[in-house]
Amino acid sequence: MTSPSPNTDAPASSTSTHDPAVRPRILTGDTPTGQLHLGHYVGSVRRRVELQETHECYFILANMHAYTTRIDKSDEIRRDCLEIVRDYLAMGIDPDKSAIFLQSEVPAIAELTFLFAMLLPFNRVMRNPTLKDEIRVKGLGENYSFGFPLYAVGQTADILSFRAHSVPVGEDQVPHLELTREVARKFNQVFCGVDEHCDDSEHEQLGGVFPIPVADVGRVGRLVGTDGVNKMSKSLNNAIFITDTFKKIKKKMGQLYTGRQSLTEPGDVNNNLFQYVRTFIEDAGRVAELERAYAAGDNIGDGHIKVEVAEAIDKLLEPMRERRAQYEGKDAEILEILKAGTERANALAEETLARAKDAANLGFFRREIRMG
Ligand code: ATP
Ligand code: MG
Repeated sequence: MTSPSPNTDAPASSTSTHDPAVRPRILTGDTPTGQLHLGHYVGSVRRRVELQETHECYFILANMHAYTTRIDKSDEIRRDCLEIVRDYLAMGIDPDKSAIFLQSEVPAIAELTFLFAMLLPFNRVMRNPTLKDEIRVKGLGENYSFGFPLYAVGQTADILSFRAHSVPVGEDQVPHLELTREVARKFNQVFCGVDEHCDDSEHEQLGGVFPIPVADVGRVGRLVGTDGVNKMSKSLNNAIFITDTFKKIKKKMGQLYTGRQSLTEPGDVNNNLFQYVRTFIEDAGRVAELERAYAAGDNIGDGHIKVEVAEAIDKLLEPMRERRAQYEGKDAEILEILKAGTERANALAEETLARAKDAANLGFFRREIRMG
């Protein structure tokens, strides 16, 4: 065991004086494997937009993680990084309040991934149910790269590089967060002398480099896709994108299968269609009325409800589509946003890395990152 070295000459940064009691920090983000959809919005982005007002926010575009399954589509991954920034801006993320950055341009993340990989037993990583699910759903079989399971370790570094206190995510990410919490505890115990019996909330106070972050799962942790089976996902062709027109939304909603046969058959208000009803129809009275009529088989068809949901979704997306259109073709502006966000991200991540290296007896020299 070593005690943490004083970090007097860590790189200066605007975040080094950050006081978590005043403004807690969040880190979350998306893999650039396509545009963002309603699942992202209700599962995570909506919450991020709220938290911008009270939290220090870092949003990562996990482009290295996209390479784990799409190494042959690097051009698309690059394009999708810019598309996701457009989606963020459309959904209400404000780059003056939040740092939006590229994972591949923050070297501290890759370095911490390597170090954290030593703290996790290999079998522990492979037991992660989200990884297992992805292998199955994406049909990766036995031929996935070494980098694929490594992304789960990488995600612990994404979060811990920013010493985030909470991570607004959908349900599928909870196992990744659990792994992150384990790495943070282990690091603090092995390298900072934090007692293994102490409470998670005490780690920083007791000299640990990393806070133990918590998952902040939104009200809708898993929006089902329009296939009615899997989670809505950009890779599974079951998503409503924020750029979709009313016509497309209606068509996609029409595909959501409930198995109900007639207008007078009592319906199950916990089915997938009603997840959409409760998520997107804002008028609580109308939701209650639909639930009553559906459960009673009171002459109400799935088709009718689907159109009502499609209208509600269209109303939500209309201002987003308009905002997004303002950034079409403005790649230079988007790149400037990414550059500014990445500079802020590097300032904080370098500070974290310096502290972690000091603690792990790897702190030999200081360095600075300058972006061109
Ligand atoms: P991929 O298919 O490439 O894995 P994805 O659609 O699952 O893409 P991610 O980039 O993996 O999207 O997820 C980004 C964030 O959005 C995560 O916090 C995830 O939990 C959340 N999210 C994605 N899909 C949904 C969904 N259908 N319901 C709720 N949250 C979701
Ligand atoms: Mg995913």
